[in-house]
Amino acid sequence: MTLLDVRDLSVRFKVENRIIDAVRNVNFSIAPSETLALVGESGSGKSVTALSILRLVASGHSSGEVIFRGDNLARLPERDLRRVRGNRISMIFQEPMTSLNPLHSISRQIAEPLVVHQGMTAQAAARRVRELMDLVGLGDLADRIHDYPHTLSGGQRQRVAIGRALVRDVDVFLFDEPLSNLDAKLRADLRVELKQLHDRLDNTMIYVTHDQVEAMTLADRIAIMKDGIIQQLASPGEIYSRPANLYVADFIGSPAMNLQQGTVENGRFLAGELSVPLDAYSFEREVSGDVWFGIRPEHVLVGDEAARADLELTVKAEVVEP
Ligand code: ADP
Ligand code: MG
Repeated sequence: MTLLDVRDLSVRFKVENRIIDAVRNVNFSIAPSETLALVGESGSGKSVTALSILRLVASGHSSGEVIFRGDNLARLPERDLRRVRGNRISMIFQEPMTSLNPLHSISRQIAEPLVVHQGMTAQAAARRVRELMDLVGLGDLADRIHDYPHTLSGGQRQRVAIGRALVRDVDVFLFDEPLSNLDAKLRADLRVELKQLHDRLDNTMIYVTHDQVEAMTLADRIAIMKDGIIQQLASPGEIYSRPANLYVADFIGSPAMNLQQGTVENGRFLAGELSVPLDAYSFEREVSGDVWFGIRPEHVLVGDEAARADLELTVKAEVVEP
């Protein structure tokens, strides 16, 4: 079953006389409860893709379809689209203050969607605010709900923004790098919490990030983007063990895969003095001629362990990272 279906999405900007193809023929669909991560370097088209779903890209020319519950959001009248943005698909931005109103108290940030969009009474909303604050780890701020967001730290603000998004009983959450502005420890904590939240709430998520660890942790499937094009769309395991091209192979994995150019002859990879038997690997098609050979650092055994290896090499360690 498909909840959201993006078909042939392309977005082009014209800046002065330069044409930028920010998104090129992007296709994906999301099933209910699924988390799809859009991953790529800065400028690869992740945000424009996410924003295009809700038609939040003001300039630029876009084409394609976004089918959501039988409607094509790309052509839905603005009035109906506003309803989708309010009740059905909720967006959380990288910078928390884009999602929050600086003049509203913490409790109002979270209660407002309930009162405005769902017609809940103030009393019922106040109860939900408390629940939500516990859920996003802000329980200890219970006596500060009348404070304004500028009195909070970056991490706390982003938790409020996540709470504001989660409070709505929407179908899809669109997260655009919600953790990128946070320091490393907080990012790791919130990453785990988002994962647990998702397991508990069973919501559908599109999660934009440049951080491959975040993507691998949170996503059921990952779309790797480069230059506005999806390079590979698959499960984390498949992307890791069967990258579709050299870019994906090099992008996913830290430290990165070791890559060596060479040739394949008689079932062996050859490069200079290196000769590697390839019979342990199952190829999808016959491989011969010029190729790239890649091996992940974690598949290299060192010292005594090397006795278990299929191939033994003597190499010089240039850098050691404890
Ligand atoms: P990211 O993957 O970092 O989120 P974006 O989707 O924001 O990348 O941007 C993709 C490309 O589109 C970039 O080259 C960016 O400069 C360009 N771009 C994004 N928004 C606009 C805009 N409003 N006007 C012109 N160019 C834009
Ligand atoms: Mg972005």
